[in-house]
Amino acid sequence: VIGGSAYLAYGVWELRHPNEQFEPDPSKKNLVILGTGWGAVSLLKKLDTENYNVIVISPRNYFLFTPLLPSCTTGTVEHRSIMEPIRSITRHKRAAVKFYEAEATKIDPERKTVMIDDCSDVQGASNKTEVSYDMLVVSVGAENATFGISGVRENSCFLKEIEDAQRIRKKIMDCVETATFKDQSPEEVERLLHMVVVGGGPTGVEFAGELQDFFDQDIKKWVPEISDKFKVTLIEALPNVLPSFSKQLIEYTESTFKEEKITIKTKTAVKKVTDKTVEAEATGPDGKKTIEVMPYGLLVWATGNALRPVVKDLMSQIPAQKDSRRGLAVNEYLVVQGTKDIWATGDCAVAGYAPTAQVASQEGAFLARLFNTMAKSEAIENTIHDLSSKLNLQPGNAGEVAVQIETNEKKLRRIKDLKPFHYTHQGSLAYIGSERAVADVSWFNGNFATGGGLTYLFWRSAYLSMCFSTRNRVLVVLDWLKSKAFGRDVSR
Ligand code: NAD
Repeated sequence: VIGGSAYLAYGVWELRHPNEQFEPDPSKKNLVILGTGWGAVSLLKKLDTENYNVIVISPRNYFLFTPLLPSCTTGTVEHRSIMEPIRSITRHKRAAVKFYEAEATKIDPERKTVMIDDCSDVQGASNKTEVSYDMLVVSVGAENATFGISGVRENSCFLKEIEDAQRIRKKIMDCVETATFKDQSPEEVERLLHMVVVGGGPTGVEFAGELQDFFDQDIKKWVPEISDKFKVTLIEALPNVLPSFSKQLIEYTESTFKEEKITIKTKTAVKKVTDKTVEAEATGPDGKKTIEVMPYGLLVWATGNALRPVVKDLMSQIPAQKDSRRGLAVNEYLVVQGTKDIWATGDCAVAGYAPTAQVASQEGAFLARLFNTMAKSEAIENTIHDLSSKLNLQPGNAGEVAVQIETNEKKLRRIKDLKPFHYTHQGSLAYIGSERAVADVSWFNGNFATGGGLTYLFWRSAYLSMCFSTRNRVLVVLDWLKSKAFGRDVSR
């Protein structure tokens, strides 16, 4: 206990009192990183910033631990517990890193510039400008796919950012309070308490599970009059939910949802959304299609990713990207095809892997290794160049200098032997409600599929260990204890 506390105290002290940093050196290359998500932050964490002039640009000045975002929608975890200020990362680097809170609106690969726009509510005199780069890393993620379906953007909540989770949390309680308003008609009560989730991927499933928990464990106790009216429906276009998980876990999830009284409508594709209804086309077992109109109070849209406009625009400027549809096609070193000085990671890149946090994080760490290596080899090449000039100027020392050149050349060969990026899949985890989780994990070259209460404890410990900082971990544990002891907060 004493050892643990001392370690924690030291960690906190370190965090609050970083060493002095080197100032940026204009003679070095400008390395511009767009984004503060999984790819960008894992790059920053491992990057030796003294080798470059590092500039980070992102509309949010924090890293968000997205796996616990569904828990924020119901208050199981508070939003600040899964946010880590970007400055707490950059302040600990040896050389200072510039951060601009702005959105990158246009990348010009010819002029090597990025247009940035300060998108915050408070605007200064300078709010749109340009940043030059020598090397650029695009880690801007993706936006929510709506497939151009009418009414989605205007009427539904997404689940990507912290504001989305806050909006959902508020809307759940709005629906509950409005449903209990004096003289509300039974049809209106039914509509308001119908929570519809579209998309049966991990995001939709985890959210539906958290929402049903919130209702069963808390709302029901505080607002008993709506006990039998609260309903969660999950709509999925494919024949089953969680298509990327094994068959056994899909069945386990579907049977758990049945027990939890979550309705799953598979083979049902939403075609239109209005402010109060969802219109979906259901395909029956005989292949017959029928249109179903479902009134809803809250609609959460979780149908995956789409390209951000800045990425689409960049792709349109690079002929080699003409055939890529889902994002910036990159080579095995994550260099954007058709460019020499632009790299891409995460959901905006197409490297042949699913768009997950795990992939983005490993890609970011790879780029840090690559950039550290590039800087080291450049330094050695310069040393070899200097030694070679010495050789010509001072022929008397030739033997000694030649040995030094050879040693450096050996070092250079060793460093330059960096293998291409290879993703190691550690498994997929998803919370499915009522303290159960499913896990498809790969260990010791084998795959294991498990679901249930023990998997839930594994899910909790795995997510806790993946949290960004000790501070995040402490806050998340406290939130879990708090919501267990006192229940989730049902105030709006
Ligand atoms: P997804 O792409 O995994 O799933 C979206 C689902 O929506 C698909 O199954 C699709 O068939 C369905 N859909 C699309 N249009 C529809 C419509 N009109 N009507 C009904 N259904 C429709 O999206 P996601 O869950 O947001 O995940 C995005 C990525 O992030 C995935 O790669 C996922 O694996 C990853 N992720 C993983 C976890 C985890 O492992 N716990 C959690 C969240 C996200």
